[in-house]
Amino acid sequence: MPRHGRVLIPRPKSVFIKVRCPDCGNEQVTFSHASIEVKCLKCGKTLVQPSGGKAVILAEVLEVLR
Ligand SMILES: [Zn+2]
Repeated sequence: MPRHGRVLIPRPKSVFIKVRCPDCGNEQVTFSHASIEVKCLKCGKTLVQPSGGKAVILAEVLEVLR
C-alpha cells in the first residue's frame, strides 16, 4: 500500500461545491469553476453556466468542499 497516495495540488480557484437543483431538489457535487455547462443529473436543468472565465451558479449552493 502506498503511503503517499494523496497528492494535493493547490488550485485556489477550483473548489467542489454541493448544489441543489431549484427545480427538482436533486443534490449533486460539481466544480465551482466549471468550463462547461453543468446540468442537473435528474431533470437536465442548467446548474452552472460558464461565463467569460467565471462560472455562474444557477443553483442553491449547499456546501463548499475543499
Ligand atoms: Zn433538477
